[in-house]
Amino acid sequence: MVLAQLGGSISRAIQQMSNATIIDEKVLNECLNEITRALLQSDVQFKLVRDMQTNIKKIVNLDDLAAGHNKRRIIQQAIFNELCKILDPGKPSFTPKKGKTSVVMFVGLQGSGKTTTCTKYAYYHQKKGWKPALVCADTFRAGAFDQLKQNATKAKIPFYGSYTESDPVKIAVEGVERFKKENCDLIIVDTSGRHKQEAALFEEMRQVSEATKPDLVIFVMDSSIGQAAFDQAQAFKQSVAVGAVIVTKMDGHAKGGGALSAVAATKSPVIFIGTGEHMDEFEVFDVKPFVSRLLGMGDLSGFMDKIHEVVPMDQQPELLQKLSEGNFTLRIMYEQFQNILKMGPIGQVFSMLPGFSAELMPKGREKESQAKIKRYMTMMDSMTNEELDSSNPKLMNESRIMRIARGSGRQVREVMEMLEEYKRLAKIWSKMKGLKIPKKGEMSALSRNMNA
Ligand code: GDP
Repeated sequence: MVLAQLGGSISRAIQQMSNATIIDEKVLNECLNEITRALLQSDVQFKLVRDMQTNIKKIVNLDDLAAGHNKRRIIQQAIFNELCKILDPGKPSFTPKKGKTSVVMFVGLQGSGKTTTCTKYAYYHQKKGWKPALVCADTFRAGAFDQLKQNATKAKIPFYGSYTESDPVKIAVEGVERFKKENCDLIIVDTSGRHKQEAALFEEMRQVSEATKPDLVIFVMDSSIGQAAFDQAQAFKQSVAVGAVIVTKMDGHAKGGGALSAVAATKSPVIFIGTGEHMDEFEVFDVKPFVSRLLGMGDLSGFMDKIHEVVPMDQQPELLQKLSEGNFTLRIMYEQFQNILKMGPIGQVFSMLPGFSAELMPKGREKESQAKIKRYMTMMDSMTNEELDSSNPKLMNESRIMRIARGSGRQVREVMEMLEEYKRLAKIWSKMKGLKIPKKGEMSALSRNMNA
């Protein structure tokens, strides 16, 4: 994801500062200038960036920090807080309740990813036990109904639409009525877009909204417009009661940071981000875990959420227990590889852990990553139980490595590479030691994780 580059630049700046023998004003300024440059490149508004810099300098008064203070940590925390402030809209979004019918209406310009996002949103909730349904009230774009139908069929989500009816209000009302009768608890209405903001689009949005009385209106926008997102989000908000925003195409555009901060400035909460064309390339957006991940500090709550989503129920308690013990064996690595291979787009779980993302499973190279994981697993198949269950790196001596290479038909070099990977993962895993495992959505452990 392009945001990873922004995160990389910021964490590098912090790292460089940490490497300095003495953190004085010059070092701090260099770090802040580097961060400023990265944020401006990501199209974050100049004023926001300048204010951030001023605030950090105010908080981090180097003269007042006694020698014993951990300046690095204080500065890092200040940067974290200020980035969160830039992205925080200051108000939460309405969240539909499971088991109680909610109507959610999607609005946005044509091409923003609205139809794709409707299905992603439905699919996300379906996986969490909801009963969603999709209504296509987009009668403006030829092929919109076919697209929604295709996506919905793939995800096995009921849908409603018409090839002949041209009145979007009529379709929306009929669809909502039908799915209410069928006891669907999340009825999603996809509305028409236009190439640009125009009176006809806003009038149609207003009419569909009046007729269906949505509990939540979600505005979908493409992140490539960067800080221009402010004006777009304001314009939509003025026409219809936008309660939440989903920012799409965060995988491909350098301006994603600008778009997110601009939306926050309109006081509209961003609830999800789209990170690819596939149905599950869709992530909950929560400011603190997002910034934490951006800075390479990991996103423990996202990690937990993914564990709950992809690790089979019966294996969850055991895995969480092992996680809190911090003891990472090759067998745990093997089991996690099995989960990763099962869950489709690789790397979603582990990318949430500090320092984990790019190396093992870089985005866009999923096939190669999968092949690598399979290769590692073949080598582990040639290991003894003692080797798999030990967390003592010294056990893997030369003769054992040669035996594993022979047994799996691989080169010694490859076995050593796999063991290096194991050591790297074990180091990250060990940071989880003693961690209070949060329940779904709980953030309590995050700050502890950040300070580790
Ligand atoms: P609509 O006109 O707003 O309904 O837009 P569509 O849902 O038809 O999407 C327009 C294009 O954007 C399609 O090719 C989608 O596959 C693509 N798209 C949607 N969301 C994302 C995303 O998060 N990432 C990427 N890379 N492409 C996306």
